[in-house]
Parts: sequence; structure tokens; C-alpha cells
Amino acid sequence: MNFKDKRVLITGSSRGIGQAAAIAFAARGAKVVVHYHRNQAAGQQTFDSLKGQEHLLLQADISDAKAVKSLFQSIQTQLGGIDIVVNNAGIFDPHPIDEVSYEHWQQSWSQTLATNLIGAANVCYCATELMIPNGGGRIINVSSRGAFRGEPEFPAYGASKAGMNAMSQSLAKKLGKHNIGVYAIAPGFVATDMAQPTLDGPDGNSIKKQSPLGRVAKPEEVAHAILFYASEAALFMTGGILDVNGASYLRS
Ligand code: NAP
Repeated sequence: MNFKDKRVLITGSSRGIGQAAAIAFAARGAKVVVHYHRNQAAGQQTFDSLKGQEHLLLQADISDAKAVKSLFQSIQTQLGGIDIVVNNAGIFDPHPIDEVSYEHWQQSWSQTLATNLIGAANVCYCATELMIPNGGGRIINVSSRGAFRGEPEFPAYGASKAGMNAMSQSLAKKLGKHNIGVYAIAPGFVATDMAQPTLDGPDGNSIKKQSPLGRVAKPEEVAHAILFYASEAALFMTGGILDVNGASYLRS
């Protein structure tokens, strides 16, 4: 896959899956916008590790609509547009309904939806504003197996990812006429900071055994799926949701 001179924004690329995607796109010739929220040092480290030149390092809180707008204004000013956007930034905080306070419950739902779903929707809006006059583009949304399987300890997370899948499919229908493909990737557990506390906990081994491969995904394996959907060959797969879960959960 060749992404020479394609301008690619990956939200949340300071760490984990986003970082692996940034490295993979840059290795194939893309100009990558590395984006972070609080962890500037990790953002800088990812940025410094990229092959090639003309990459950008930008900060924004995706749950803040104005910050998302400013992020895209910076991209427009510095790169003149964007060809591929990966909505990857996300949070995963536990809030079991029978254990947390009502206040905790409300805060978890608000923050999770504001980041994982509404933030991603705002990124789609601002990306589309730049892509339509540019003749098209690709939007890849990093969803989760949890959208299908249920997330008993993280219900707002499961709902945010189910919403993301529905949003991807609605926008795929709406934006095809503008040559914009919209896709979702649905990983199972991936070995990143987000999953590490769970994988290190008492359920870690049984989680690995959910897959017949006996392990969880590496961030690079999810990055590979992102690159596949972003490639020219995958345009007609618009509206698709790609499982990357090692057969740990098979949906019909
Ligand atoms: P991670 O290692 O925890 O990294 C999260 C990234 O999102 C970081 O770059 C972080 O920035 C950024 N971020 C968090 N809140 C943000 C906000 N409000 N505004 C802007 N950026 C924000 O996560 P990951 O495991 O790579 O997950 C990436 C995506 O894959 C997420 O959407 C997640 O839901 C999805 N996913 C993960 C798994 C898994 O098991 N890991 C499974 C299925 C789906 P800072 O570094 O600045 O904090």
C-alpha cells in the first residue's frame, strides 16, 4: 500500500493503536498529523519516530467542539487540506451500574460519549468540510467489538462504539456522492495502555483465551486494518465494519 503525499490525521496517535497507525502511514509515504490530548511527551516521541518529512504534531481535546475546529484550521493552514482521517482517540473508564454512584454514572456517560462519539462526529464534520472541495477522502472510525458483544462494566463505552458504527454507516451513505468512503474497525482487546489494567488483572489469562490464537491483538495488527480501509482498493467497501478480534467474538 502506498500513501505517498497523502495527508493523514490520526486522532490519539501519541500512544497505542494510533501511534502504530502513524508509524505505518509514514513508512508508506504519508504526511502524518500526530495528535494528542494531555501526553505531549508521547506525542513528541511518536512524531520523532516517523519516517519522512512534513509531518505535524498538534494538540486538541476531542471532546471540545471548538478545539476540534481549531485543529482542522491548523491542518488547513499548514497542509492545505486532509485526505484521510482516522477517528481513533477514545477513553475506556469503568462504571458498573450496580457499584457506582449516580453522579459517577452521569459523569462516565457524559465524558465517554463526548469523547468517543460526539468528538468523533465533530471530527467527521470538520474533515468533510475540507474533503468535499478537495474531491473526496476517507474516514476510518476505530470502534470496538464491545459495540456488538456488550460491555457490562463499561456500558457507555459499548454504546459509544455502537453509535460510532451507526454514524459510520449513515455517513457512508451520505458522503459516497462526494467520493468520501467511511468505515469502522472493530478490534477486540489490543495490547495498549487502555487495555493493560484489564489484561494485568485477574481476568487477563481468560481474556487471552477468548481467541483461538491465545492472545490479544498487537496495535500494529489494528493499524494494518486501518491502512487497508484507507487504501484506494477499499473504496467500494465503504460502510463496512471490519472485525480485528482473533475470532474471540463472531457476530452474525
Ligand atoms: P490508548 O493507548 O489509551 O490511547 C488513547 C489515545 O487517545 C491517546 O493518544 C490519548 O491522548 C487520546 N485521547 C484520549 N482522550 C482524548 C481526548 N479527550 N482528546 C483527544 N485525544 C484523546 O488507547 P488505544 O488502546 O490505542 O485505543 C485507541 C482506540 O481503539 C480507542 O478508540 C479505543 O476505544 C479503541 N479500541 C481499543 C481497544 C483496546 O483493547 N486497546 C479495543 C477496542 C477498541 P494522550 O496520549 O494525550 O492522553
